Amino acid sequence: MNVLVINCGSSSLKFQLINSDSEQALAKGLCERIGIDGCLTYQPAGGEKEKTEKAMPTHTEAIQYVIDALTDPETGVVKSLDEIGAVGHRVVHGGEKFASSVVITDEVIKAIEECNDLAPLHNPANLIGIEACRILMPDTPMVGVFDTAFHQTMPEKAYMYGLPYEYYDKYKVRRYGFHGTSHSFVSKRAAELVGKPYDQVKTIVCHLGNGASICAVKNGKSVDTSMGLTPLEGLVMGTRSGDIDPAILEFIAKKEDLDISGLMNMLNKKSGVFGLSDYLSSDFRDLTSAASEGNAPARIALEVFSYRVAKYVGSYAAAMNGVDVIAFTAGIGENVSAVRADVVNHLTYLGIELDEAANEKRGEEITISTPDSKVTVMVIPTNEELAIARETVALI
Ligand code: AMP
Repeated sequence: MNVLVINCGSSSLKFQLINSDSEQALAKGLCERIGIDGCLTYQPAGGEKEKTEKAMPTHTEAIQYVIDALTDPETGVVKSLDEIGAVGHRVVHGGEKFASSVVITDEVIKAIEECNDLAPLHNPANLIGIEACRILMPDTPMVGVFDTAFHQTMPEKAYMYGLPYEYYDKYKVRRYGFHGTSHSFVSKRAAELVGKPYDQVKTIVCHLGNGASICAVKNGKSVDTSMGLTPLEGLVMGTRSGDIDPAILEFIAKKEDLDISGLMNMLNKKSGVFGLSDYLSSDFRDLTSAASEGNAPARIALEVFSYRVAKYVGSYAAAMNGVDVIAFTAGIGENVSAVRADVVNHLTYLGIELDEAANEKRGEEITISTPDSKVTVMVIPTNEELAIARETVALI
């Protein structure tokens, strides 16, 4: 079956058409500047990438262009909509309502709307994508796959904040965690690669991309993760601060005359390695090359990033009372060997030995620890779209 995977934002929409038998993407692309003017990027597997300006006043036009591109007689990959068996939608926040993926119905849409408060930038956009697909493909079954669902197995001691209980009671203020689709995909694959049953292995997944989070997966279940109520908590990220002393907010607000939205903008957009590097870049390619030329803020940004990752890995080894596998994934985890080496060098007390030659390889599943290492360290490329396609097929 062919599954259309949709990741819908407020002004953009990423898509992939995946054949669930071969698990290969037949085509992929992106609609940008929806509601402004509109631009479609489309690439069939093995073909040229095409970028065309298209008027996209709403997401409905954007999805119509996606369908037109996929069924185009020359560059399309299917003959008609009948060859698309299902649609899998990424949904960011499922709150406490969704502990797994669901077939989308009117009731499910209502329940997702009830989580909008928890992710005001993301959930409404995800719902717009779902509604647009329901208009254009009314007979095609659809599934919602939540970033938060995998972490619903966390125990109370991991998800409760040290805040008044009434805020949990009244508003569901607690830690939820994100990147669940990726943490689930990578931890399952890690168990397969080390040849152990998924329910008998302790894995720490380091999803290090522009957004970054770590997850402790004990016997197939997420028991802790570094993001919280929102994706701002935890690691130092591309432009997000991660954990800070909350009292810094009052201090900076007074000094810089910032209100809450100014503070949130600073924490989400101007912090992380971007802010640390004195606004040089959030991209590790730029930071690595600047650091090698002696740029001190870039060097500090890289050191802070890896140190924070190492501290979380250490704390999650404690949370699970041991660790069998550490897996690195996403843009930085898959591509930046210096970050992996830096993290692992903080963890030799766990009996980890790095295979330095293996660590220099790229773009493939690979074990980067030596055969004698007490913990297996791996690089496992993530594939969130394939994970969404698999969930979708499993449910329908
Ligand atoms: P992601 O959010 O998973 O797409 O990761 C994006 C980040 O990964 C970028 O901001 C870069 O910092 C990093 N990245 C991706 N590819 C490379 C590469 N080839 N070398 C170094 N860093 C990379």
